[in-house]
Amino acid sequence: MIGSLAELGGYIAPELGKVYCTCGRIVDLDRSTINLKRQLGKPIECNSCRNRRISCEIDLLDRHFLGEEEEDDYF
Ligand SMILES: [Zn+2]
Repeated sequence: MIGSLAELGGYIAPELGKVYCTCGRIVDLDRSTINLKRQLGKPIECNSCRNRRISCEIDLLDRHFLGEEEEDDYF
């Protein structure tokens, strides 16, 4: 696993520092973060998309703990 990570670090172009989010905004991340996200297969998203996603997840969690969602939705 460590060997394959080192290989990935080798072939990713060093000039890649900016990527586009799905909403069209330029995402300014440091290269190691971009590489890590790619290796993990995670989407690269801008701050506003990230904040929206996180607040959405928190909202879902809140609802879950408040018992507003049916347990069956999780199956
Ligand atoms: Zn975005």
